[in-house]
Amino acid sequence: MSFASLGLNGPILQAVEECGYTQPTPIQAQAIPAVLSGGDLLAGAQTGTGKTAGFTLPMLQILTDRPVKGLANGRHPIRALVLVPTRELAAQVEDSVRTYGKHLKLTSMTMFGGVGINPQISQLKQRVDILVATPGRLLDHAQQRTVDLSHVEILVLDEADRMLDMGFIRDVKRIIALLPKSVNNLRRQNLLFSATFSDEIKALADGLLDKPKMIEVARRNTTAESVDQKVVLSEKVHKRALLAHLIKTNRWEQVLVFTRTKHGANRLAEQLGKDGITALAIHGNKSQSARTRALSEFKGGTLQVLVATDIAARGLDIVELPHVVNYELPNVPEDYVHRIGRTGRAGASGEAISLVASDERPYLADIERLIKRQIPRVQVPGFVFDARAVTIDEQRPPMPPRRTCARCSKTAIRGCKASPPNRCPGSAPTRARPA
Ligand code: AMP
Repeated sequence: MSFASLGLNGPILQAVEECGYTQPTPIQAQAIPAVLSGGDLLAGAQTGTGKTAGFTLPMLQILTDRPVKGLANGRHPIRALVLVPTRELAAQVEDSVRTYGKHLKLTSMTMFGGVGINPQISQLKQRVDILVATPGRLLDHAQQRTVDLSHVEILVLDEADRMLDMGFIRDVKRIIALLPKSVNNLRRQNLLFSATFSDEIKALADGLLDKPKMIEVARRNTTAESVDQKVVLSEKVHKRALLAHLIKTNRWEQVLVFTRTKHGANRLAEQLGKDGITALAIHGNKSQSARTRALSEFKGGTLQVLVATDIAARGLDIVELPHVVNYELPNVPEDYVHRIGRTGRAGASGEAISLVASDERPYLADIERLIKRQIPRVQVPGFVFDARAVTIDEQRPPMPPRRTCARCSKTAIRGCKASPPNRCPGSAPTRARPA
């Protein structure tokens, strides 16, 4: 199947060709005609499947085919809104909009928090056809009346499951309430993309979408087939040495490592640095410029390891990322699917290794239940660890022997208070209580 057979116009086909795409991915083959037909869409697609072009290409075509006049106040209306969970994803989606729309007259803008609001206000005074935004900052603008959403013809909720996981449900609903039901007698078109389908997502879809076309390209909650997944059982204290060993012996050049906490990400990046491995951490406490710098160094190949928390890593699009390491397993099993979705993207093969300590075994069981398969266990010579054979007590250092008093035979800890115990005068007579 070719992109031309999907009904896309010349300038869009030219941009796609310039990206080097020869044929649509399965999600694109289904989503592009569905969106072009004008109806709502509920799409189950994991990251790395090409879903961004799946909604961006038809969106660009619809907006081009349906030109609009400026508003009475001289402004140009915002015509499409793409809501995304993170800043990084906003930047990436808008980058795609610009790449695929480079031969069109449409303009786009990103809007997210963590950066100054004033440049965004200035940009909103110019022409913006497509706005790619995170919910929090968009609501700030809405409250300050610096953004007008009353002419939005197309709404895209991208990575909707993550938006809800991050607690944006109320913000998303408040934004939806600001949108028009129809523009120029045409009903607003709503597209919802999600990798997983919780009851909350289904409820959101029920309230938002009108007779949506449903498409699903990978089985729900299954991990990309092209990712080679492995588990290495390891004691917690050995994980850093094990990771450094894996990176060095396998000569890994580009590794995305996940930790559960921001503090853990910082500490690991620092420790890897001491092991002679270039590493930087990205997480929500880092400034936007630090995150952008780390990401561009990582993409450019000058940074070997990017250590990230789940939230920071969401939406990272690093083409053909070869290695993902779960330094700690996520306690939400769906996050595992998102994490390893960073590798093996759009058909490229990748490897995802999880370092699992004894106390993470329940998380591993939850993940395997979710993805409906057992992840092969592998051993790394020099780091062999059999978690089943090790009890918690065996991992603790032995207790020092207790000193027993030679005269009263009580232990120094529990009874005899004499020090050293052989000064003990023997069992003290019980004193009669005063009347
Ligand atoms: P996405 O799932 O939208 O984040 O896309 C994942 C990656 O696949 C991106 O790096 C895209 O540039 C790439 N991609 C998207 N569509 C195609 C295609 N038809 N052929 C090859 N690569 C693609």
